[in-house]
Amino acid sequence: MTSDTTLNIAILTDWINRYANQISDNKAYLTELDAAIGDADHGINMQHGFEAVQQRLPGFAGEPMSVFFKNIGMTLLSKVGGASGPLYGTLFLRMGMASADKSTLTPTEFAEALAAGVEGIRQRGSARPGDKTMVDALTPAVLALHQALDNGATLCEALQAAAAAGEAGMKATISMQAYKGRASYLGPRSIGHQDPGATSAYLLIKSAAESFCPAEQATS
Ligand code: ADP
Ligand code: MG
Repeated sequence: MTSDTTLNIAILTDWINRYANQISDNKAYLTELDAAIGDADHGINMQHGFEAVQQRLPGFAGEPMSVFFKNIGMTLLSKVGGASGPLYGTLFLRMGMASADKSTLTPTEFAEALAAGVEGIRQRGSARPGDKTMVDALTPAVLALHQALDNGATLCEALQAAAAAGEAGMKATISMQAYKGRASYLGPRSIGHQDPGATSAYLLIKSAAESFCPAEQATS
């Protein structure tokens, strides 16, 4: 199988729409995770931001990738309170910069744009892997995505590998002590709880796998 899928605005819109729905479905869960080691607002913050994004999605048909991603990033920056707003905002702004005026993306271009977005989060929040943040789900996911594509996987297969790596990274935050964000105020008492941002980050990759896989492969 070759990586011959081309991503256009319609497919990317489906991804973000799907993610917004998953955030809405998991609003209480994300907030519950944040209640344990933060201030109980992660689900509320994310739902508020992605509801605003979702309302704007129909307006991007025919626009270049940069306009699509930058608008999502700006919406999140303006609508999401808390640390996660600027961080997810940066992810999408950087994806926009990386994909410029293209109207479609190859799987490799998408992986590179996502990697640029995750690098933006790491720069903005200065979290390193192991600090118990969204970076702990996103970094292994991006690595797995690149490795799978390099090994000739389809975009669907590569994103399924990325989602599995992101899920493992999310679960690995349970045993970590937090060194960034509010959870770090708890010191060792942050150990034993799954990071809310790593959880919403895993959902972002999982929803991409669901959107970019042809229906018959989605459950394989
Ligand atoms: P706040 O902590 O301001 O209430 P949220 O609850 O919306 O914001 O988001 C919390 C999540 O943000 C954390 O679970 C963590 O994954 C992520 N986070 C916090 N600070 C950083 C940082 N410096 N770098 C990366 N991610 C961070
Ligand atoms: Mg919070």
